[in-house]
Formats: sequence, C-alpha cells, structure tokens
Amino acid sequence: PQPVLAVVGRPNVGKSTLVNRILGRREAVVQDTPGVTRDRVAYDALWNGRKFTVVDTGGWEPDAEGLQASVAAQAELAMATADAILLVVDATVGATATDEAAAKVLRRAKAPVLLAANKVDDERLLADTASLWSLGVGEPIPVSALHGRNSGDLLDAILDAL
Ligand code: GDP
Ligand code: MG
Repeated sequence: PQPVLAVVGRPNVGKSTLVNRILGRREAVVQDTPGVTRDRVAYDALWNGRKFTVVDTGGWEPDAEGLQASVAAQAELAMATADAILLVVDATVGATATDEAAAKVLRRAKAPVLLAANKVDDERLLADTASLWSLGVGEPIPVSALHGRNSGDLLDAILDAL
C-alpha cells in the first residue's frame, strides 16, 4: 500500500487548493466559502516517481462542540491513519486559536508533521511566516497554493517525510 499524507487545518486556509497543487490537477473542491469540501477525500499523487495518497479534510461543519474541537478531531484522525501530516495555516492571518488547537494535537504525533504557511503569494509576505514557529510543529514552509510558489520545495519535504 502506498504511504498516506493527511492534509489538515481550519477551513479556508487553502487545503484543497494545496492538494490540487500536490496532485498537479484540479480534483479537490475549492470553495470561497469556508467548510464546503466533502468530509475526507483520498487522491492518488505522484511526485519524482513516487506514489502516495493525499487525504484532503474539511467540510465538517463546526459541530456542537465548535470549530476548534472539530479541527482537533480531524488532527486526531489524521494521526491515527496517516504516515505524514501536513498542517496548513494562512500566513496572512497568522496562528489562530483553531490553528493552535490543531497544532497542540499534532505535537503528540509519532508521524512526521509538516507546516505549510499558505497564501505567501509574494516576497513581501515572507515575513509573516516566522511567527508560525510558535505553533511548535517545526519550520513553517512558505507556499502559495494559488500561484504554485515554492510547491516543489514542499513536495520534496513531503517525500522526505513519507
Ligand atoms: P480549504 O477550506 O482549506 O480547503 O480552502 P480552499 O482550498 O477551499 O481555499 C479557500 C480560499 O482561499 C479560496 O478562495 C482559494 O482560492 C483561496 N486560496 C487558497 N490558496 C491560496 C493562496 O495561496 N493565496 C491566496 N491569495 N488565496 C488562496
Ligand atoms: Mg477544502
């Protein structure tokens, strides 16, 4: 069976857009309104001759327990099922309480955790990424899922982790 990368994070940070970058095709559903992606969808990816499965999460409406609990639960599920986990945050917003709830769970992960600082569409935004070290899940990797900026570096890091 091929290794599994789970992509987690709060709604609207660009998880599905980034999954499409990883796939090199538009298969994951991108929504302008948060939380519309179907619950968990697995796709076959290929990079540098290696196959792996990418699981896009999201779409879970914040339940009675709220968004932080939902995102934490997705992170728990990812830890139980994935070989590596990609936490996506919006670098233009910075770390929110929900991002911290996900990171808190993932700090316990045995599997490698990568941190994508998304929406770094141009150099001016690079400065926004350094504060994301505070999440305690390692080095923030700046990317722009929308424009493809740095996605090759991210994919190399993913392959190293898997
Ligand atoms: P998800 O809810 O985390 O899966 O987020 P989506 O992939 O559905 O994207 C949410 C919104 O963010 C959409 O309007 C995307 O076009 C936008 N978005 C995603 N990645 C980027 C990026 O790198 N830069 C910018 N500026 N917008 C992005
Ligand atoms: Mg999505």
